[in-house]
Amino acid sequence: MSQKIKWRKSAAGQRALMTTTLRNMIKTRDNHTCRYCSISLSAEPHLLLEVDHIMPVSKGGLTAPENLQTLCWRCNRTKSNKIIAAG
Ligand SMILES: [Zn+2]
Repeated sequence: MSQKIKWRKSAAGQRALMTTTLRNMIKTRDNHTCRYCSISLSAEPHLLLEVDHIMPVSKGGLTAPENLQTLCWRCNRTKSNKIIAAG
């Protein structure tokens, strides 16, 4: 039991919670619009949207709707690069 809780709180556990259903839920909540640059699926039909952890899992962020946001792949990539640069 305690082992399972520990796993759920671990980064691997949090990543495992990131299901297709949850991703779709977050994208729908955010109206398929990137929270950084405000580009939307209706503006760019082939836009690739990704669901991102606001607080990274590696820093203790949880896979919960309040810690998830929709980003286009361009912004998500820029964000990742910045985190790597800062680290
Ligand atoms: Zn964007």
